[in-house]
Amino acid sequence: MSIMYKSTRSNSEKVTASQAILKGLAEDGGLFVPESIPALDMDLQKLATLSYQETAYEVMKLYLSDFTKEELLHCIHGAYDDKFDTPEIAPLVKKDGAFYLELFHGKTIAFKDMALSILPYLMTTSAKKNGVKNEIVILTATSGDTGKAALAGFAEVEGTSIIVFYPKNGVSPIQEKQMLTQKGANTHVVGIVGNFDDAQTGVKNMFNSKELAAQMDQAGYQFSSANSINIGRLVPQIVYYVYAYGRLLEKGELQAGEPMNVVVPTGNFGNILAAYYAKNMGIPIQTLYCASNENKVLYDFFQTGTYDRKREFILTTSPSMDILISSNLERLIYRITGEDASQTKAFMDALSTQGEYSITPEMKGKLADFVGGFASEEETHATIKEVYDKTGYIMDTHTAVASNIYYQKAAKSGIKTVIASTASPYKFTRSVMNSIDEKYDSMSDFELVDELNKLSGVKIPQAIEEIRTAPILHDTVCDKTEMEKTVKTILGLGE
Ligand SMILES: *Cc1c(COP(=O)(O)O)cnc(C)c1O
Repeated sequence: MSIMYKSTRSNSEKVTASQAILKGLAEDGGLFVPESIPALDMDLQKLATLSYQETAYEVMKLYLSDFTKEELLHCIHGAYDDKFDTPEIAPLVKKDGAFYLELFHGKTIAFKDMALSILPYLMTTSAKKNGVKNEIVILTATSGDTGKAALAGFAEVEGTSIIVFYPKNGVSPIQEKQMLTQKGANTHVVGIVGNFDDAQTGVKNMFNSKELAAQMDQAGYQFSSANSINIGRLVPQIVYYVYAYGRLLEKGELQAGEPMNVVVPTGNFGNILAAYYAKNMGIPIQTLYCASNENKVLYDFFQTGTYDRKREFILTTSPSMDILISSNLERLIYRITGEDASQTKAFMDALSTQGEYSITPEMKGKLADFVGGFASEEETHATIKEVYDKTGYIMDTHTAVASNIYYQKAAKSGIKTVIASTASPYKFTRSVMNSIDEKYDSMSDFELVDELNKLSGVKIPQAIEEIRTAPILHDTVCDKTEMEKTVKTILGLGE
């Protein structure tokens, strides 16, 4: 069956998967969604026998139906190879009754690698399929992890260049160093004076500018997006929930058909939306716990039915979740309107003009699969320490937000629960070590890396070893109002 993609904000545009990947956003500013969510066409029990790559093929072929088998296998095997430090790609680790799905074994030690290792392959394959001659300029806003994962994925990929905007004072020192040391003549990194939402809004505005698109086209460029609004980011993420279920079957923790829960530390709502798609494909997921940090706009939304971004933006120690406008929620909103594009557009317009919208009681009724939770900074740090004291396992701050929600809510359900573990503790060393003992606060970042190694016994990842000595290669900073000007300068376009 072939699946086409349509926009969440109008019914006019229908595109193939490869076209949706190239475009990133629909012309009307909406997000692409599949016309229908395909059902997994296999016996659940068989999942127990599939490797990560085989699972990826079974899932992705259903969504990327205009890719040939050869094309898709080329993408999958190019992405999920020994760039990952374990052949399992995403190991499922049991600690204190919970199952941590470790999604951080890729090149940049955050779960963004799961999708961004394959996106460049999907993008260049899509360009070839559609006869694209322009150079593809990947324009990305990052709260810290997407930037590095996208840079690593697209560096030196022919026919592409990449420009990453990040909030200058809103990412961890290791995250920043990872980005600023990125090699590759086609890579550009820009710090903005503003927060992540400013960066994301600036990027969206550039995508929506017809004038800029025309100017780019004349110079032989076109934009695409590596942000999680791109369907090429969402689809590869569905895989690991299907894979996790297969592992639970394989380990005999579940019988085929028995439900599991998932707890997902959430920012832009991409990861948890992928779990929702997996559920709708037929994976027995009972409850999706949406875990937020102190920027708990989603928690409030699930509680009240009102999405209200008019609040203070809080910088936390889980910066990749410091987000007040969760872009991918639009895809869920679209679904619970009964796929009503004009209603979805009205909500999104209200969000941008009034800063809030309220869904109808009928729509709220369709959110029963979701439970929101949030953890304060104190609770997050306490969870890191408690799980370490109990089991010796050390998790990062984002995973700890989810783990806290597990103990608050999911642990009581009696259902096997998978916690999406989204970053290596080595990426947020200072916050992690300070949670375990305040005495670490006086040490330097790299001393802390060595201390973490001693405590956890987990090998220091290559990604960290690399940046110890790497030179800073990028130093551009601009105001949030100057993002377009900066892009034009980078690409050599006139005013
Ligand atoms: C991006 C990120 C998140 C949030 O994921 P979303 O898909 O944006 O909800 C959580 N944890 C880490 C470590 C991340 O990098």
